[in-house]
Amino acid sequence: MTELLYPLADEAATEALGKALARHQELPAVVFLHGDLGAGKTTLSRGVMRGYGHQGAVKSPTYTLVEPYQFDRHEVYHFDLYRLADPEELEFMGIREYFDGHALCLIEWPECGQGILPAPDLEITLSYEGQGRMARLVAHSDLAKRTLEALSA
Ligand code: ADP
Ligand code: MG
Repeated sequence: MTELLYPLADEAATEALGKALARHQELPAVVFLHGDLGAGKTTLSRGVMRGYGHQGAVKSPTYTLVEPYQFDRHEVYHFDLYRLADPEELEFMGIREYFDGHALCLIEWPECGQGILPAPDLEITLSYEGQGRMARLVAHSDLAKRTLEALSA
């Protein structure tokens, strides 16, 4: 399966999709999160962190560009590239290290890092739909195809 549409009726559903991702996503993996401001990218990311057992706050790292989360067996790097002026800045941040390990990289506003970011395993596009949201998940690797199969089972 390479594409999955996933309706999200409310905020709890968006978090639940994040938790399901945490449960099923094999690592390492790169996930691009597309969608307008307020579409739910950070809410979904919070669900992922909750799924891995993180209790504290999860906010968009708008000014620091990346927030690391350390878990027992892996890290999650949560990026928000909205304020990235030039993709080359990612090189100065030592971007490779984030993508070389056994990590999950969740990237809001990946468009801003075009040309420097690695290709994603999974792309998730969140859009407004009535009072809720629609998530469109597109798999670009076998690992992500397995994720979609697990999510749709
Ligand atoms: P983004 O990171 O894409 O800018 P946020 O996750 O910060 O978006 O904000 C999304 C907003 O929309 C929050 O106020 C959240 O409560 C709300 N929200 C999240 N998911 C849904 C949903 N499925 N339906 C309705 N509202 C949602
Ligand atoms: Mg955000």
